[in-house]
Amino acid sequence: METKQFKAESKRLLEMMIHSIYTHKEIFLRELISNASDAIDKLYFKSLTDDSVGLKKDDFAVWIYTDKDSRTLKITDNGIGMTEEELENNLGTIANSGSLKFKSENKLDEDNQIIGQFGVGFYSAFMVAKKVTVISKAFGSDKAYRWESEGVDGYTITEDDKKSVGTEITLELLDDTDDEKYGEFLDEYRIKSLVKKYSDYIRFPIKMEVTHSRPKEQTEEEKEQNKPLEYEDYIEVETLNSMVPLWKKNKNELKEEDYKHFYTEKFYDYNEPIKYAHVKNEGMPSYNALLYIPSKAPFDYYTKEFEKGLQLYSNGVLIMDKCADLLPDYFSFVKGLVDSEDLSLNISREILQHDRQLKAIAKSIEKTITAELKKMLKNDREKYEEFWKAFGLQIKFGVYSDFGMNKDKLQDLLMFTSSNENKLVTLDEYVTAMREEQKYIYYATGENISRIEHLPQTELLKDKGYEILYLTDNVDEFAIKSLNKYKDKEFKNVSADDLGIEDTDKKEEIKAKEEENSDMLKNLADSLEGKVEKVILSQRLKSHPVCLTSEGEITLEMEKVLNAMPTEQKVHAKRVLEINPEHEIFEKLKAVSDNKEKLAKYAKLLYTQALLIEGMNIDDPVEFSNLICELM
Ligand code: ADP
Repeated sequence: METKQFKAESKRLLEMMIHSIYTHKEIFLRELISNASDAIDKLYFKSLTDDSVGLKKDDFAVWIYTDKDSRTLKITDNGIGMTEEELENNLGTIANSGSLKFKSENKLDEDNQIIGQFGVGFYSAFMVAKKVTVISKAFGSDKAYRWESEGVDGYTITEDDKKSVGTEITLELLDDTDDEKYGEFLDEYRIKSLVKKYSDYIRFPIKMEVTHSRPKEQTEEEKEQNKPLEYEDYIEVETLNSMVPLWKKNKNELKEEDYKHFYTEKFYDYNEPIKYAHVKNEGMPSYNALLYIPSKAPFDYYTKEFEKGLQLYSNGVLIMDKCADLLPDYFSFVKGLVDSEDLSLNISREILQHDRQLKAIAKSIEKTITAELKKMLKNDREKYEEFWKAFGLQIKFGVYSDFGMNKDKLQDLLMFTSSNENKLVTLDEYVTAMREEQKYIYYATGENISRIEHLPQTELLKDKGYEILYLTDNVDEFAIKSLNKYKDKEFKNVSADDLGIEDTDKKEEIKAKEEENSDMLKNLADSLEGKVEKVILSQRLKSHPVCLTSEGEITLEMEKVLNAMPTEQKVHAKRVLEINPEHEIFEKLKAVSDNKEKLAKYAKLLYTQALLIEGMNIDDPVEFSNLICELM
């Protein structure tokens, strides 16, 4: 009997298989079951038009047998089978070796993702077996053949007396080592859970004889004597897979409960999802999807550890647990799965990333999520606000990141707390409620709402009846800056130099006053030794004596946020100290304007006061306190 050599490429793939790390090895079962299911598919299809097949739909099945004594695992199917030639061609070479090509081009180490995430077909059997025997009889052929191999050394093909059409694959498992217990794959429980994990939705039954234990029947006498129960084993055939995936069922067959139950089971979340969507896309790209929005952010959601992604199935077979490419970062909270018939099992992660089909699916999914969120915002405000509390931050990051590339898509999902009753409003609601003469969308930043409410800068705006958006998250102002405008209305920080509300008469008046007191204002600024860019008379203050604003691109809030980041380079907002010319403090200042020393003390006091109102750190609390006492 001649031992044949594998083709060179196949040999390399085999070697790679054999040395792959253990956690990936379990997928061999998925691969063999998928092949069996494909073979059954082919014969079943034939049976619809060809009576000589002699099988009805219910007759088709994949069987799994384990035998601990001989350490063998057997997978059989009554599918189309393989001829001698097919055994030679299909199992001697790798038809589509995309994975292998990728591997050789990119020099990955052994712990690469290819095997773990993607199918590499029949060869994966060698990850767990020292010997693989395939006995097959093709439909329409009167002879059966046996293909045997112990790995890289080659294979033999001989005749066999198998009577029924189909294929039988026997794996003689590798010996256990300290780290790797191949014997596990003889364990019924392990097999059952692997089938559940990877092959639950294979559309033909996957059957196994499972051993159960039951108490033996007792005689009346034994019962009376209270004899302890004895147990006996019995064997029962079980179908291990549930066959029809939920997402392939008709929507009208399914109740809300079914979807929610599936979610809590599959994604290990105690809380029901806030929203779900069942997508059946029949055009291009064709796919089914179940998408869920959780009601709460997972504990690690806003950390680096969190991994986004949807489960990816190819025709009911799991090929990837967290396919990150299916979700943009700003929708990373979405859980669910995608099943597409157009994706091949034998595809590596990197190839998948560039797969056009996958890209089209991702795009379509993004559209669906956006539409669902908008629908929720429109029809179920309460729920949307709940959603916003859990994941709004992520959406705001989305507006700001990637240089604002996605802002147009996301801007209508945004919500901010409004100065009107502290309710959450959308930008659209804000703009719709704007006063006729109002030029800008106003916003104020601060650590929390009550701090912002007390900012002197907001006084005049509120007095005019203008709504202000309260921004309390670090990312908020960056997001707003990325937007720049919403429906042609510019955003304006309440601390900005020109709020667009000043009436011209008053402006003139203040300008005149500033000129009149220009020496004093300059002295005030000088005495603050570079802490402020300048000291001016304010047009925005009503009752408060002072406030601190900024000039230029970087605001005080941005300075705070950016400088809190662990980078060397610190940014600096150009501070402007504004003094209320209507306040009696202004008269006081004028009265001491000739006394430079005293003026300097007032300057320090007012500046520190403004810092405190802004919620910023003051440089020297002791000096501040001493100054107060001294001037009192
Ligand atoms: P793939 O399934 O991706 O084509 P495999 O290496 O798993 O790659 O299998 C190679 C080929 O061998 C299959 O395409 C199929 O034609 C054949 N084959 C494998 N297993 C079976 C089986 N159980 N019954 C019939 N043909 C099979």
